[in-house]
Amino acid sequence: MYNFLASRREGDLLILPEEEVKHLKVRRIRREEPIGVIWEGKLYRCTIKDLSQKEARCSIDEVVPVPEPEIDITLYQAVPVEIGVFDFIVQKATEVGVEKLVPVITERSFRKNEVILKKIPRWERIVRESMKQSGRPKPLLIEEPKELISLKADRDMNILLDNFQEGTSLREIELKGIKSACIVVGPEGGFSRSEVALLKDAGFKSVRLKPYTMRTETAAVVCSSFLINFAGP
Ligand code: SAH
Repeated sequence: MYNFLASRREGDLLILPEEEVKHLKVRRIRREEPIGVIWEGKLYRCTIKDLSQKEARCSIDEVVPVPEPEIDITLYQAVPVEIGVFDFIVQKATEVGVEKLVPVITERSFRKNEVILKKIPRWERIVRESMKQSGRPKPLLIEEPKELISLKADRDMNILLDNFQEGTSLREIELKGIKSACIVVGPEGGFSRSEVALLKDAGFKSVRLKPYTMRTETAAVVCSSFLINFAGP
């Protein structure tokens, strides 16, 4: 079932805007066909009742139950110098179930705050596309950029993905009872020694992923998905 994003609700009807009507056409979906509609954090199974160029009016058949991740993850992601790579991270973080993504400025990251801020609307569009693809009803939240020094280790589990690979192996981390976690990931060139020391002093736990050095986007996605799949009561 293809999913679409509603722009408003009128009684028992969910209304898809013009932009979504274009997607309906691309997918060759007609009146009376069932579709998934995301509205205010929920996914509904709907039937298209009325279709014009401007909007589609859909009746709600049922709420589709979507389980939420059992762990609330914030990804502190150093902005890659090749900033386009952040698009990929936004898409994958949405799919795997990260709660919040914070672009982080580090010694070797992309460092222009104004440029990063201007990218946020584009990233939010990628989030919406990815929600439709994955059936995730609540958006990934993207915050404004932060400096590495301002990060706080205030979750149940605070992970630093350490490019010096001196940390604890991910599988040795006890996830039982952990309800929230943050993961700090470095840029292409990695963290400097002093950045790693600063994060450890702030209370982040140095962790290594086996067996090799991964690209920043790979490390971010692998670690997030591991925690989401293995954490739980
Ligand atoms: N150029 C660096 C590697 C950077 S990889 C070097 O040669 O050391 C980019 C980021 O991904 C790292 O800063 C780290 O946060 C994360 N990362 C990649 N592979 C990892 C691994 N095997 N263990 C832990 N973190 C890793």
